[in-house]
Amino acid sequence: MENIQEKADYCLNCPTKPCTTGCPLGNDIPSFIRKVKEGNYEEAYNILLETTVLQPVCGRICPHMKQCRGKCVRGIKGESVEIGELEAFVGDMAIQNKWDIPKAEEMSDKKVAVIGGGPSGLTVAAFLRRKGYDVTIYEKYDKLGGLLSHGIPDFRLPRDILNKTIEKILNLGINVKYNCSLGKDITLEKLKNEYDAILLTIGANVSTKMGIEGEDLEGVYGGNELLENNNHPDYKGKIVIVNGGGNTAMDTSRTINKMGAKKVYVVYRRAREQMPAEQKEIDEAISEGVEFLFQNNIVRIIGDKRVEKIECIKTELIKVEGENRLKPVNIEGSNYEIPVDYVVMAIGSKPEEEVLNSLDLKRNKWGYIETDENNRTSDEKVFCAGDISGETSTVAWASRSGRNAAENIDKYLRNI
Ligand code: SF4
Repeated sequence: MENIQEKADYCLNCPTKPCTTGCPLGNDIPSFIRKVKEGNYEEAYNILLETTVLQPVCGRICPHMKQCRGKCVRGIKGESVEIGELEAFVGDMAIQNKWDIPKAEEMSDKKVAVIGGGPSGLTVAAFLRRKGYDVTIYEKYDKLGGLLSHGIPDFRLPRDILNKTIEKILNLGINVKYNCSLGKDITLEKLKNEYDAILLTIGANVSTKMGIEGEDLEGVYGGNELLENNNHPDYKGKIVIVNGGGNTAMDTSRTINKMGAKKVYVVYRRAREQMPAEQKEIDEAISEGVEFLFQNNIVRIIGDKRVEKIECIKTELIKVEGENRLKPVNIEGSNYEIPVDYVVMAIGSKPEEEVLNSLDLKRNKWGYIETDENNRTSDEKVFCAGDISGETSTVAWASRSGRNAAENIDKYLRNI
């Protein structure tokens, strides 16, 4: 379906709202689509504003088939409604027509510091400002957006759209201190003296390692670091292996392929059906020439100082009692080698240990900051949302975590 009206008309506006139950933000999808059908785009925007300030972003980069579209009743017998395209359309209309985010009618004298300007931080800042609090975002880079600016390639999320979405949030009257890193330029203690509440929304941007031989050779990179720092080597004429099955693996492999690599392989331990990445992203990577080595595992990286080859082994998938996902098991004797120039690890990410260590806050058994159900850390003035507390790391979940934190901080500030 090419046209927005057709896409909206295809929705059945189900009263039970199954698509909304699949949306981490709980967007009222049937109602906003009804307004699009009626041609009342501003009203559609106002409905979305109840739950999200990132419509143009989520509309483009959410894994919709795993969220709202995965629950759409239209999908039972055919194609599900293109909810993401409709949300992005409404968000873009709001940017073009300068429809603002409504400001608070009454201002509070309470001040909140938000550490990190990614999707969680932007959302919490917007929702707290809408409640009238004086909000300051502390951002370690010279621009906001977090993984949206640094981790998502332009071909998935155009920069002008992202920048205008951020601008609209800042227009609420949010202060920003750029180039300010927690633990280096500012301490938690100092912030606690200046603010009534502090929210930590530092992302997980350090790539996880596999712990195999050769991972420290020259030419082995972390996917997050490559995307975040945009500090790529020259891939022209080179063979690159990307290890992983999520959206970072897709973004990295597609970016490297577009930068002129001779061949890009994605190595993934399980089958295509088990890949966490969106099917749409996998299809696009394949259509662009990225080759997938499903049910393969990297055993070691071989080279003298720099990477020369990888040793792979084939896997079979077995069902394990009590586990939902099939487990990949190496097939003995199926080892083989591939000559490569670069290896990129995109199997997961974690927050910067140095930053976590600089905070005098209790950690959970996985090493993340421990929080209770109200986003509260072991320090009553300090709250936590998003990756740093170990929550699911899609943009909508990060944003939802920020919105919940805004509600919890509001409750706390009303009672002090
Ligand atoms: Fe529309 Fe699908 Fe949601 Fe029903 S489930 S309201 S058809 S988007």
